[in-house]
Amino acid sequence: MNFQNKKPLTTGFLQSVNLMYDRAVKLLDLPEDVAETIRVCNSTYEVQFSVRLRGKLHSFKGYRSVHSEHMEPAKGGIRYSIEVNKDEVEALAALMTFKCALVETPFGGSKGGLIIDPTAWEPHELEKITRRFAYELAKRDLINPSQNVPAPDMGTGEREMAWMADEYRRMNPTDMNARACVTGKPLNAGGIAGRTEATGRGVQYALQEFFRHPDDVAAAGLSGTLDGKSVVVQGLGNVGYHAAKFLSEEDGAKIVGVVERDGAVFDPKGINVEDLKAHLVSGQPLCAFPGVEFTENGALGLEYECDILIPAACESVITYGNAHRIKAPLIIEAANGPVTAEANDILLERGCTIIPDLFANAGGVTVSYFEWAKNISHIRFGRMQRRQEEARSRAFLEQLETLLPNGVDASIKRQLECGAGELELVRSGLDDTMRAAYVAMREVRQAHPNCPDLRTAAYMVAVRRIASVMDHFTL
Ligand code: NAD
Repeated sequence: MNFQNKKPLTTGFLQSVNLMYDRAVKLLDLPEDVAETIRVCNSTYEVQFSVRLRGKLHSFKGYRSVHSEHMEPAKGGIRYSIEVNKDEVEALAALMTFKCALVETPFGGSKGGLIIDPTAWEPHELEKITRRFAYELAKRDLINPSQNVPAPDMGTGEREMAWMADEYRRMNPTDMNARACVTGKPLNAGGIAGRTEATGRGVQYALQEFFRHPDDVAAAGLSGTLDGKSVVVQGLGNVGYHAAKFLSEEDGAKIVGVVERDGAVFDPKGINVEDLKAHLVSGQPLCAFPGVEFTENGALGLEYECDILIPAACESVITYGNAHRIKAPLIIEAANGPVTAEANDILLERGCTIIPDLFANAGGVTVSYFEWAKNISHIRFGRMQRRQEEARSRAFLEQLETLLPNGVDASIKRQLECGAGELELVRSGLDDTMRAAYVAMREVRQAHPNCPDLRTAAYMVAVRRIASVMDHFTL
């Protein structure tokens, strides 16, 4: 098929999400009214507010969309970007609904955004803007521990979450669960160990699980394990940086290319992720990073020869325009919606395997769920059992050492002697979640001869679960 002459099927992110949803629903035996109820976005609140900064009033526009309340609270990040718009927020909220169902976090889907360039404001100004936005959302229960719980997304992080949580607490001083009103907070403000790294860590666990299935690996035209695989990452922000760091430092993958806003760098021998991140954080341009090939045209980076492509920046970067030039046989969607619906078809036809966003970047919401559960239970995970576990292991080791002439290997001893703290438990819960979700997608795909890919399977798993919850409702 000549894709260059094929007319695009869809235009926007929301249409792409709806199209992918409709395809999955066609394969399910779901009444039309139920399918439509699940598909539509329940509400989108649009707010305009002004903040006095630099001697005058500056006006800002923001959104909070609630796609589904089949479970509450509704959950989803808040994005700061000048490109934020209603369609984007609604598409992201829909993805949250399906993602939460796929990884069995008991939430509906929501998403928010503020039209702002966060780099244009000083931290104290951003704090004023964020607190005011949080106030506007909280007074309508769009920030609320039992109704709607935001988290970080593009352009926001734990600092913004701490400001929002504090604003909510000031407005609700008697709410003992106030800290659960947002997730992704710093540890000292009610956060959880491992949340900042969670989405990137989830991408790593998703790939590890994929490589546990040799049939799936072979279908993607690959073999073996993650060790030695060449990887290109787009976006060295929270998600991309952590994914690249863990894959290269722990799994032996080689980061051969990094694509950023101002270009792309390549090195077939592998790029040191920590060095590059430190270089960018210090404010130096990508082009000044030593010892690598640089191109100003970042989009070309996506077309670089590699085993695994990780788009971890933003939506709609692989489109009808460039899909036929992508060389990676395996794409894992660390960002939300990086592949448009028509690009998806082109890539599938060319034999590319896509590990879909619903699954691939669900690490963030999974660990957010753990943080929310920690906040409402008011106790750190591992606090009750850690020392007891250690005492039990020590007693076992002492007995074992009396039986073994050479004693127990020192590294195994260290491992057994150490009870699980919060970080270990969070990682274990995340790993378990990613493995279970992959297997659920895989089983549905294998059971349905007409299911073309993992994305459709992911939607099918999610929609089935949502429909079964709605069965118990009086609508
Ligand atoms: P971030 O702001 O920390 O990082 C984004 C990075 O991408 C930045 O380095 C930015 O410079 C770069 N970038 C932006 N546009 C680009 C472009 N057109 N080309 C190349 N680089 C570009 O954001 P993040 O939190 O890492 O989020 C990235 C993606 O992951 C988004 O799609 C977000 O919705 C998704 N996501 C994030 C989380 C989370 O926990 N942060 C969870 C799930 C999904």
